[in-house]
Amino acid sequence: MLAHELPRLLFGTPGNPLTLAQHKATFASTFNAESLLGELEASGLTGRGGAAFPTARKARLLREQRGHHKVVVVNAMEGEPVSYKDSTLLSTNPHLVLDGAAILASIIGANHVIVCVSRDNPTAVGHVQRALDERQRGGSKGPEFNLETAPWRYVAGEESALVHWLNDNESLPQYRPQRPDILKLSHRSVLLDNVETCANVGLIGRYGAAWFRTLGTRTSPGSVLVTLTGAVERPKVLEVAPGMTLRTVLNVADADPDPQALLLGGYGGSWLDGALLDTPYDNESLAPLGASVGAGIVVVLGRQGCGVVETQRVVKWMANESARQCGPCAFGLPALSEDLAELSTGSRNSTKALQRLEQRCGVIEGRGACHHPDGVVRLVRSALRVFAEDFKSHSRGTPCLGSRSKKYFVAVPRLEHESELIWV
Ligand code: SF4
Repeated sequence: MLAHELPRLLFGTPGNPLTLAQHKATFASTFNAESLLGELEASGLTGRGGAAFPTARKARLLREQRGHHKVVVVNAMEGEPVSYKDSTLLSTNPHLVLDGAAILASIIGANHVIVCVSRDNPTAVGHVQRALDERQRGGSKGPEFNLETAPWRYVAGEESALVHWLNDNESLPQYRPQRPDILKLSHRSVLLDNVETCANVGLIGRYGAAWFRTLGTRTSPGSVLVTLTGAVERPKVLEVAPGMTLRTVLNVADADPDPQALLLGGYGGSWLDGALLDTPYDNESLAPLGASVGAGIVVVLGRQGCGVVETQRVVKWMANESARQCGPCAFGLPALSEDLAELSTGSRNSTKALQRLEQRCGVIEGRGACHHPDGVVRLVRSALRVFAEDFKSHSRGTPCLGSRSKKYFVAVPRLEHESELIWV
């Protein structure tokens, strides 16, 4: 029996995944499909990919599609460049993820599961492949599993882009006027969930909703995985209970205890002032501060860094990474990036660039076919709020010391699509 405390998802040793026999000894599912949906609803589990949509509601929507062929897609693309929580989970207990996917398939009446892993992450591909082979050798019952390896890029993990890639080999997000809607893979209705979400479904299938809720808060139950980078001794993935303060999370990760700010949720997330470390790390506590847990990323910005420069580096990369299918991405994001570049050098009076930045955010928001540009706008607006004094100094031609130090805390992939990240 797994204890009520942590770790749950990372039970095992990262890099040395549990075998099927080891996994079954602790995690074999005990519920039937009928009781599983009830348990999932009672658990209050929300998606761990960033949107935090209730997992049971999504499953029920698919289950109620009577007479349709259905498929479960597991999203292990991990599109956020500074995240590696999903690959850590796959390197610890891939069978827990596969259990969760099988449970979701039984709930909605699907007999097929597709696990999508980035082909640029051969280690994660290997862990999934070995786990699937092991299941096949062991004659596991349940749905048929397939592994698909899609090319990595930021928008490739967006759910409509991933289904588009499975349909047509193109990682392009699709216009979806209504949410939630049901994506189609050929003629089949798709239930798509993130790796960490599936693993939590696996836990609920084994131990039930009441056990699941013994960690976390009423509205954010269970545990969450967090990738911590930036001003930390070394980047790491932690499993934490929502409700724990940010100060405690940083402490556990041996991070800078007095940071200038935190970037929460990833490149499409929000900056949070370093004075707010006593805020609990959960969506209900972060929402009034304009932030969220998002994709489970915390980047710690040390006091030697510059929030204006860091934001500019991320926005430049995000502008380059869009599919440029829509106006906000084709024109709006490059314009935001140019304004930020002018402000970050701070070499001359840039008050107009600062004004334009604020106006452009209003013009871009809500106009893309997907949420990619909205994420960039969220990041820029949070930077304008948290680094307001720095933006003013930069716009007056007197940039902060941090902008001249060239010390970076946010890892950003090189624009020439080299896989190497630029670390501190
Ligand atoms: S908003 Fe941007 S990323 Fe999204 S579909 Fe349009 S061009 Fe592509």
